Amino acid sequence: MTKQNKGLSFILIYLILIFLPLLVFLIFGLPYTRSFWRDLSVMLGFVGLSMAGFQLIPTTRLSFLADVFDMGKVYKVHHILSVLSVMLVLVHPIILLVNNPNILLLFNPFTAPWRTQAGWIGLVSLLLIAITSVYRKEMHLGYNVWHAIHTLLTFSIVVFGLIHLFKVNYYSATLPMRIAWILEVAIWVMMIAIIRVIKPLQNKRHPYVVQKVITEVPNVWTLVLKPDGHAGMHFNAGQVAWININTSPFTLHRNPFSFSGSALIKDELRFTIKALGDFSATIGNLKGGETVYVDGPYGNFSLDADETKEGLVMLAGGIGIAPILSILHTLAAQKDRRPLTLFYGSYDEENIICYADIEKLKKELALTVVHVLEKPTGKIACEKGYISQTILEKYLPTEKQNLFFFQCGPLPMIKAMQPHLKNLGISNKRIHSEEYEMA
Ligand SMILES: Cc1cc2nc3c(=O)[nH]c(=O)nc-3n(C[C@H](O)[C@H](O)[C@H](O)COP(=O)(O)OP(=O)(O)OC[C@H]3O[C@@H](n4cnc5c(N)ncnc54)[C@H](O)[C@@H]3O)c2cc1C
Repeated sequence: MTKQNKGLSFILIYLILIFLPLLVFLIFGLPYTRSFWRDLSVMLGFVGLSMAGFQLIPTTRLSFLADVFDMGKVYKVHHILSVLSVMLVLVHPIILLVNNPNILLLFNPFTAPWRTQAGWIGLVSLLLIAITSVYRKEMHLGYNVWHAIHTLLTFSIVVFGLIHLFKVNYYSATLPMRIAWILEVAIWVMMIAIIRVIKPLQNKRHPYVVQKVITEVPNVWTLVLKPDGHAGMHFNAGQVAWININTSPFTLHRNPFSFSGSALIKDELRFTIKALGDFSATIGNLKGGETVYVDGPYGNFSLDADETKEGLVMLAGGIGIAPILSILHTLAAQKDRRPLTLFYGSYDEENIICYADIEKLKKELALTVVHVLEKPTGKIACEKGYISQTILEKYLPTEKQNLFFFQCGPLPMIKAMQPHLKNLGISNKRIHSEEYEMA
């Protein structure tokens, strides 16, 4: 099956699962009749709850999905569907109220029956999850705190939503609808078991140890890991893994990093990491010998894909050079001769990560490197400012349609590149973006 067909099949299955309660209602109906508005309101609530529960799928990092879909896009869809599910669930009590104003009594959380209170708790949790996710930065919520709140609220939505649904027990009273919801809950529980139990157990059986930490530039280190008692991991250049160091493999929090070493070296993993917060700032303090759990690889970029064969253009900003180092080291080890152009944006000469490595790789590959520095001090030949359309046009051939673009860096850089690449006539199918921000 082609990647595209696989993708379409997954989307179809995902849609069927989300709309399962509605499908069951339309096919089997109810033994008694109710008003159209009541049916509509309840079905919107059902689909909203089902959609909220199935948000576990995009965030569970299932390998077979990660092979097919771009992870950045998966997280974007996750955000859109989460907001949509909040809206659907919100519309549910509004329609009920407009249809029958007498139910206003149920809006008092102190006097409402338990089955309604459970619904309110689920709804408030859903609203809180949406607000804290959309406005996380404005609310100054650190990633770890936000992640813990997100996990807790997800649990609350599912548990209280289901209590509301089964306690009200009108629409869920029929056998087909009960079976549909039991199936949905079983899949949600399975997702939680995969991410919280099965994957950590697999990671526990395949630990790594820190062999050394190399300081590249101030506050950027390359972490070199060796497999501890196993053969190591196969990954593709351009892929990422989630890691945690010196904590239990069952910990809730782990951080994503791109592999930065050659994909051909099986018994060593390298990650090049910039200090950006609590976890990443600790890398420079590692002494060697610490245990590291690596969950991966993830990501669907492949140097074997035909589109990349005619020529690869790489756009990197700062630490966004990490996966590109992996791509270059891998191609050098393969003695690959495809034309390569790297546009690398850094602050100044002192902040170019792995400058010496890149210079060496220039000799081994058909590689042109264009350093673009914000504040150059004249030590190397470079362009000044940010990577711009003019700079891209200056170094790229006139015929660009057959080139493949791999860009990696912070979100503002990826956004800034979008119009440039569009103006150069590069189709979206020929662009792979690795955004270093997911939430
Ligand atoms: C797919 C991907 C690949 C990445 N590859 C690299 C790399 O090769 N080298 C590198 O230096 N950085 C990389 N990053 C960024 C790196 O993950 C964050 O800088 C790091 O996790 C920050 O964690 P912290 O605890 O130090 O800082 P915090 O202050 O906790 O977080 C700073 C920011 O990092 C992001 N972040 C933190 N934890 C996570 C997480 N578990 N999942 C998603 N985002 C998170 C959030 O946007 C957060 O606001 C990558 C990010 C992503 C999404």
